[in-house]
Amino acid sequence: QAADEHHDLVVLGAGPGGYTAAFRAADLGLKVLLIERYPDLGGVCLNVGCIPSKALLHTAAIIQETQGMSAHGVTFAKPEIDIDKLRSFKEEVIGKLTGGLAGLAKQRKVTVAHGFARFRSSHLIAISNPEQQEGADQADRLVSFDQAIIAAGSKSIRIPGFPYDDERLMDSTGALELADIPKRLLVIGGGIIGLEMGCVYAGLGSAVTVVELSEGLMPGCDRDLVRPLEKRLKKDFENIFTGAKVTGIESTKKGLSVTFEGGKAPASDTFDRVLLAVGRSPNGHALDADKAEVLVDERGFIAVDSQQRTNVQHIFAIGDLVGQPMLAHKATHEGKVAAEVAAGQKSYFDAKTIPSVAYTDPEIAWMGLTETAAKDQGISYEKGAFPWAASGRALSMARSDGLTKVLYDPQTKRILGAGIVGPNAGELIAEAVLALEMGADLEDLALTIHPHPTLSETLNFAAEVAEGTVTDIY
Ligand code: FAD
Repeated sequence: QAADEHHDLVVLGAGPGGYTAAFRAADLGLKVLLIERYPDLGGVCLNVGCIPSKALLHTAAIIQETQGMSAHGVTFAKPEIDIDKLRSFKEEVIGKLTGGLAGLAKQRKVTVAHGFARFRSSHLIAISNPEQQEGADQADRLVSFDQAIIAAGSKSIRIPGFPYDDERLMDSTGALELADIPKRLLVIGGGIIGLEMGCVYAGLGSAVTVVELSEGLMPGCDRDLVRPLEKRLKKDFENIFTGAKVTGIESTKKGLSVTFEGGKAPASDTFDRVLLAVGRSPNGHALDADKAEVLVDERGFIAVDSQQRTNVQHIFAIGDLVGQPMLAHKATHEGKVAAEVAAGQKSYFDAKTIPSVAYTDPEIAWMGLTETAAKDQGISYEKGAFPWAASGRALSMARSDGLTKVLYDPQTKRILGAGIVGPNAGELIAEAVLALEMGADLEDLALTIHPHPTLSETLNFAAEVAEGTVTDIY
């Protein structure tokens, strides 16, 4: 079949992975087509993920902070929330970023096509009307390419049998729409996305209940980091049920009637809205990748090598679609590697770690080896931990519940991992990531002069604790 047009490189999907790959490849001289089914560039992260959630979390955190100021002698009135204005603020932030991307694409002469893309062969892609997901034969446009990068991302997982036609049952995209502030919100899933959205709605005034199948919130994360969060959420949320699950949801006039099983959850309860946040699954099955002979596993993931190549030499894959962790900064890094390899450079994905952050209150951030993983895998380590109760800066912010710890190799003293819980943990972890990437050891962290009084000092103090040079209170 003859193509309507030809490009050196086609990038399928304009999320953080896709637009980064497209821009980098164009900068390296390739003629690039970027295909996106939605009108705006930016993917999940900019439109319905990282950015809108952080815009709302910022508001929620300020509300929570002002309400806690009475103990400092300052009492604020109960906040009045203009939800339309808050929604507009969030939309404005998204608009600035997605508009910026469109401008950057133009500047670089990256051609953008809006439509749903599917492979026809290993050198041909069909682009059809975004609405028309079935019936690949009715393509509006056929594009041939020398190389392609698949960056189609992921979507929220659905549990079968729930009433998805009831708009009160939401996924994260629905929750970010901020249709109203429900009196009672149930969040199914105590992972990062569920807890972040729970913090947003609790800050805005909803009575939030979380139900989590595992025995603790944030499964996989070290318990000493989760504990301060759990303690705070117990105050901010109406209920937290762990070791429990939802067995059914029914739409009723009064709300969504939910049945539970396990833990301390009641047999049933009724909520104004329910957010389902039990994970995300890759979009690998919707691309007719088999027509390009690209292997997609049962779950929809596409396996790649360290240069982001799939089993087909000239087709790359990046981002959520290639595996965990499903994070924007992983997608962009992989996007750069794929673009550079496509342009003939010898690039590899060889990052030592991909940091994780929960932007809850308090934030939790970790990188490199965790104690949970070390124990599971029998890796020997030692640690230095510094409780924020001894940090002058943390105390002056009335946030002594934080903790900073570094894990290191007992023989070489090299940094293996770090974990932080407390306000701004997400910003603070970056120093530890750099330390790991540069092969730093404890002494490097302990002898580096950090500004006083800052939360960044806690990393320095944690290393000093391990070195035995700490002087207790700062
Ligand atoms: P995506 O962003 O999913 O983009 C894929 C794009 O491909 C989409 O625009 C989609 O429309 C398009 N597409 C798919 N199939 C086709 C097709 N066949 N034809 C045309 N176009 C197609 N990560 C962080 O690092 N930090 C955070 O704080 C954070 N917060 C999050 C909060 C929420 C609520 C959610 C849901 C996610 C969050 N994430 C966060 C995860 C982050 O959004 C993803 O890891 C990131 O967006 C993945 O980028 P990607 O390029 O792989 O795919």
